[in-house]
Amino acid sequence: MKSLRYLYRIGHGPSSSHTMGPANAINLIKKQYNDASSFDVILYGSLAFTGRGHLTDKIIVDTAYPIPCNIHFNYDLEVEFPNTFDVIIHFVDKEDITKRVLSLGGGAISIDNEINHEDEEIYPEKNMDEIISLCKKNNWTFAQYVYEREGQSIKDYLKEVYKVMLDSIDRGLKSEGVLPGKLKVQRKAYKFLVAKHDHESMASYYNRILAAYAFAVSEENASGGIIVTAPTCGACGTLPSVIKYMSSRCQSSEDEIIDALATAGLFGNVVKTNGSISGAEAGCQAEIGTATAMAAAAACSLRRMNLDIIECAAEIAIEHSLGLTCDPVEGYVQIPCIERNGVSAIKATSASYIAEFIADSQHISFDQAVATALQTGKDMKMAYRETSQGGLAVSYKKKGE
Ligand code: SF4
Repeated sequence: MKSLRYLYRIGHGPSSSHTMGPANAINLIKKQYNDASSFDVILYGSLAFTGRGHLTDKIIVDTAYPIPCNIHFNYDLEVEFPNTFDVIIHFVDKEDITKRVLSLGGGAISIDNEINHEDEEIYPEKNMDEIISLCKKNNWTFAQYVYEREGQSIKDYLKEVYKVMLDSIDRGLKSEGVLPGKLKVQRKAYKFLVAKHDHESMASYYNRILAAYAFAVSEENASGGIIVTAPTCGACGTLPSVIKYMSSRCQSSEDEIIDALATAGLFGNVVKTNGSISGAEAGCQAEIGTATAMAAAAACSLRRMNLDIIECAAEIAIEHSLGLTCDPVEGYVQIPCIERNGVSAIKATSASYIAEFIADSQHISFDQAVATALQTGKDMKMAYRETSQGGLAVSYKKKGE
């Protein structure tokens, strides 16, 4: 596994695979071919079907600037990997060069099958079972294991990550109006905050606050604001919401918050390595399912639970996200994505409480749930993997006809 720096990426929404990844690729190609006169970019698969709604075309043209760039949408070519695009590089005085880019999810890319090694593998353990064995042997928490592998400097990076998360919550809670795009979705985060009523139960209060935070970040993402991938842009609201809410309830110190982020990141990293965090590859279970697992692990960490309970909570979150499809309406990361982050934040905190009572009789491990999610994703029709060709995206069109 690679560093958590490549799981938690700070950047503009709305999509790690559809905006951050393509922007990273264009930046690298621009740097390598600084004598290019223009680019033609051909988008395939999910990038073609949902690229406009996800702002892929805009981010590529903006990133390529000042080099002129034309975007083409190819809906017909069947590509092996759903988020594929070609960059044809033109020069004034030599032959064109074509580069094939795969946007792998979470902002990671490969160009001509060479994975962009932003860094080498720094975690030798291959899965959560191995990590837990090692932690038990050394009496480490998950966070201590992360610091052993990454070095203490990762803490400064995680502090920056948390600051950006909090800023995105604050901005989202202060913003009103309509999100960009033709769906005309109203921002709702601030409404949750002012929706207090006199006889509100504690449970209702907590759910409202969790939803407010998750909506705030997700609405920022949908507006192209700066967020942290956790593990992706579409699923970026769940983890910040749970950490802000639970750390307040548990009166956590700054160190405990950073430990929770490290713990959550470790679980996300295992999924990224052994499963999938890409909606185009394995449906929303890969994005929101992983985010929910990360948030459940963070909640347990803040509640000072042991390794087994943390692992069980993350497993519950994945298990009960299995089969979740990716069907963004009109290709925008808005419906169902924003609400889904709110619901997932509530689900993650529930998983952290449930795990406390069932961890001692757990039948399915986190690693098994991750493998199952990947297989389920492979079995999923393409219509349900970020193409807006099935599910809610189709129901919405029928309703609007
Ligand atoms: S439905 Fe889920 S996977 Fe698809 S774009 Fe929305 S958040 Fe991402």
